[in-house]
Amino acid sequence: MITLSPPTLEIHPWQRELAAAITDVNELLSLLELEEGDVVGGVSPAAAREFRLRVPRYFAGLMRPGDPDDPLLAQVLPRAAEDHVVEGYVEDPVADLAAACAYGILQKYRGRALMITTGACAVHCRYCFRRHFPYAEQSVLPHWQAALQALHKLPDITELILSGGDPLSLADGRLSRLVTAAEEIPHLRRLRIHTRLPVVLPARITHKLADLLSHSRLQTVVVIHANHPNEITASLGQALGELRSRGTSLLNQAVLLKSVNDDADTLAELSESLFGIGVLPYYLHLLDPVAGAAHFDVPVDRPQRLLEQLRSRLPGYLVPQLVRELAGQPFKVPISPL
Ligand SMILES: *Cc1c(COP(=O)(O)O)cnc(C)c1O
Ligand code: SF4
Repeated sequence: MITLSPPTLEIHPWQRELAAAITDVNELLSLLELEEGDVVGGVSPAAAREFRLRVPRYFAGLMRPGDPDDPLLAQVLPRAAEDHVVEGYVEDPVADLAAACAYGILQKYRGRALMITTGACAVHCRYCFRRHFPYAEQSVLPHWQAALQALHKLPDITELILSGGDPLSLADGRLSRLVTAAEEIPHLRRLRIHTRLPVVLPARITHKLADLLSHSRLQTVVVIHANHPNEITASLGQALGELRSRGTSLLNQAVLLKSVNDDADTLAELSESLFGIGVLPYYLHLLDPVAGAAHFDVPVDRPQRLLEQLRSRLPGYLVPQLVRELAGQPFKVPISPL
């Protein structure tokens, strides 16, 4: 799946794949040989309008045809359950807006600054805490000079985290300009990219991107986002291998989601499969209580029980840190044992 970078400003194959993503619920269902009636509770046209369905064809190809409960389908399908108003589920559950210190820059934790590079994502995940985020105002693209200026004046920041949206939805040229500008900030040591793109479209890992990261004076870390072992494929492994063999550290963060990965077998297999392609499990996040995602929530004592089961069957380095984001806390808060 690794593609050569074109010498000119042609559209790259991954960009074509991105543009051809499925955005119509019925198209996705018929591709999977399903009908609306097969989806328990039904789909929601209103939810699909508010936060559009979006699935690259490669990712849809990893879903099992004929299975309305497929764990990858469950992550992207706008269900009627999203329309239910559930107390405690709000639009900005992690108080991101309060943390905004300059256009597109969020600083919540010491030493690290997070830059919202773009609002665009290759896939739309129904549980996403940014689904109601006002990207138009916060997206850094029109303001990235100002954002970089702000970073120059924050000498205690040693790590810049590119986030979004998905920073890898930016073209390589644009990303390259951003990374070059970041390299000129003397106090930065590390560049971290949080992205789900390789998981839903491995062709995104171009030689040019691998060059950019391996030639940087900054240490580079790529944190992918995979929730289920079916997302870990040979193409993903091959694409990430190019980054890893050239010195980029690879980590994964997942979200604990009901009926997707809330059992020990699935989580253990996820860790094993990740390590098989050179990625270490980093975080397992509790669901952020974002409006429309309550149907992904798990019973209150389940996360700790799962953690205990994982610890009793995996080496310590394959057990992700189970954390929750609490507004105003100086770190992502670990879930304590039962
Ligand atoms: C999650 C997050 C980080 C990174 O936290 P780590 O614990 O270092 O992975 C940094 N900034 C913001 C705003 C975040 O939400
Ligand atoms: S920010 Fe990440 S979790 Fe949210 S929709 Fe985009 S890819 Fe999915």
